[in-house]
Amino acid sequence: MNDDAMAEALCRTDGYARSCDAVVTAAGPDGIRLDRTVFYPAGGGQPGDTGVLRFADGVEIRIVDAVKADGPDTVLHIPAEGSTLPAPGMPVTAVIDWDRRYRLMRMHTCLHLLCALVPGEVTGGQVGDGKGRLDFNLPETRLDKDGITAGLNRLIAEDHPVRVRWITDEELAAKPDLVRTMSVKPPSGAGRVRVLDIEGVDLQPCGGTHVSRTGEIGPVEVAKIENKGRQNRRINLAFKS
Ligand SMILES: [Zn+2]
Repeated sequence: MNDDAMAEALCRTDGYARSCDAVVTAAGPDGIRLDRTVFYPAGGGQPGDTGVLRFADGVEIRIVDAVKADGPDTVLHIPAEGSTLPAPGMPVTAVIDWDRRYRLMRMHTCLHLLCALVPGEVTGGQVGDGKGRLDFNLPETRLDKDGITAGLNRLIAEDHPVRVRWITDEELAAKPDLVRTMSVKPPSGAGRVRVLDIEGVDLQPCGGTHVSRTGEIGPVEVAKIENKGRQNRRINLAFKS
């Protein structure tokens, strides 16, 4: 097992971790690798984190994006243009832009609620800063914009607990209805799959970061419902405050 394979992606176990101490394992034109990190690498419709890498002498490297390298938990930290790259072995503190990440976590969790309210397969989606959307494979049906807004805010006000669990590949195979998202392959490997459980509301494979209770999402609204083709309905959400 090499250093990359052992790199620890702390965002998978603790979505609330804002910083961590780490060591640079490699740095090159493609990005900077650390032995552990709090940065979420873009994937599953959620953007990569931004932030800084802070060195012992106070020097900071601005990180403008984080992406997956050769494995789902191998994170490449993309430095701002013109940054001086650190040397392998250097200790560093990795710090994410928490306000932005928290907004992404709130919206990402809200998209799970949307998934629970609207029937039909999810064919795509994107978490944005302050907004988000899901595409549903639905025939000509009238979707009730105000009704969906009310449903979302009810589930948010009910303050359901949100938990990450791991289930076996066999359990997942036995429940094909768990996989609502056709375009996103659930994170799996070593015989287990990470699932997000919003108690009593929604259960599905997901590798993203989420808030721990639906109440943290805050008031939202359906901003727009678009027809993107004969069978495709795009529901756009936005925070109300
Ligand atoms: Zn998720």
